[in-house]
Amino acid sequence: MTTPAVTRFAPSPTGSVHLGNVRTALFSYLWARKTGGRFILRIEDTDVERSRPHYRDELVAELAWLGLEWDEGPDTGGPSAPYSQSERGEIYAGLFARLEAQGNVYPCYCTAEDLELSRKLQRMAGRPPRYAGTCRGLDAAARREREARGLRPTLRFAVPADRVVEFTDTVHGPQAYQTNDIGDFIVRREDGSASFFFCNAVDDALMGVTQVLRGDDHLTNTPRQLMVLDALGLARPGYGHVGLLVGADGAPLSKRHGSASLQEFRQRGFLCAALQNHLFRLGHSGDADEWLAPADMPRHFRPEHLGKAPARFDEAQLVHWQKETIARLSAAEIGAWLNIDGGEPVVELVRHNVVLPPDAAPWIALLRGEPPVLGDEERRIAAAAGPAFFAAAAAALAETGADLKRMTRLLGERTGRRGADLYLPLRVALTGHTHGPELAPLLKLIGTEAARRRLESHAENP
Ligand code: GLU
Ligand code: ZN
Repeated sequence: MTTPAVTRFAPSPTGSVHLGNVRTALFSYLWARKTGGRFILRIEDTDVERSRPHYRDELVAELAWLGLEWDEGPDTGGPSAPYSQSERGEIYAGLFARLEAQGNVYPCYCTAEDLELSRKLQRMAGRPPRYAGTCRGLDAAARREREARGLRPTLRFAVPADRVVEFTDTVHGPQAYQTNDIGDFIVRREDGSASFFFCNAVDDALMGVTQVLRGDDHLTNTPRQLMVLDALGLARPGYGHVGLLVGADGAPLSKRHGSASLQEFRQRGFLCAALQNHLFRLGHSGDADEWLAPADMPRHFRPEHLGKAPARFDEAQLVHWQKETIARLSAAEIGAWLNIDGGEPVVELVRHNVVLPPDAAPWIALLRGEPPVLGDEERRIAAAAGPAFFAAAAAALAETGADLKRMTRLLGERTGRRGADLYLPLRVALTGHTHGPELAPLLKLIGTEAARRRLESHAENP
């Protein structure tokens, strides 16, 4: 029996949720569900400059839409509340006091200009820039003097020298970092707010998270976070860093690739099961190639098959899963998705011709009696068939009614045309398209009168 995993999604509400983050959220969610554990949503909003309440609301709504239900989180509540970091200031204050009492941290009065100058000097000396430890040795008098000048300090973690921080990354395997390569880092900003390194790590520990999954870009942050946890005697969660999500061109997935945020894909009309099926396979090789119902995904999720190579997001693949999803929807679900009455025969007719809702619009318009709009190619096909053909077609239709089989038999006998020569111009005149839903039911839905008018409009020389 595997131990129940406690996982989390910890987004910063500084923009729309990126699909790369949605993917790690999905994996975390599946891991918790697979093992009967818990999935936590935590809002990382200590950066007041960049966090926005509407992004928080948006991300909560988008995640709910995707069906990633969290067991603990803002609004939902839970044993580790509050779940927004902006409301956890008191908790952090207690931990800062402990670190101060233990001598793990010290105030740093360096200004942005001081730090920039120091970095420049180090680069010129051919060394990688990191905090030089300027304020580490300041005595009480020196600190008072700086305070008197009105300087507000940040709080830095005093990284111990000559140690190695080791951990086993769930995805990358054993890792070892020399502390001598790590500069003293900020745990509390000048404005008193907790930095990412600090609150991200302590909250995972305090909330009982056993397994963190996040993007590769955070791998080198991990040794710093482990030092904080160790200093506070807090339990280390497991860390796993998955490869980043890139577009077809290999560059990080962004708006340039069409869409990059969950909201954009939802608004374009992609279905949640389609997105889940594509994301499920990005940087993760499960044991199922076929379409999976979201409810079946936890069973097929294989944490040991998470990959460190960048994963390629491919909209063509997403479209494939979209079609697979549409094929499994009921008429009522299609109706709801396309915003039409699910009882309408048009649902069955268009479901094979729609990937996104706008694709349905021309068919719906057609069936509601709007005359078809022909493109250049369609106009050429109609012209090549000629007015005599359409006059014959209209006459045949008047005799047989909207029964395609009988109508085309009659028309074939009278014009000598067969196959595509017969059907293509008919389809073009009736629908304005060279392809689309099956013609026989379509003709019935259009009705004899409307169909006759459409055929007759091609029966006269322009
Ligand atoms: N708030 C961080 C981010 O959005 C969380 C990183 C993590 O998952 O640990 O990048
Ligand atoms: Zn300093």
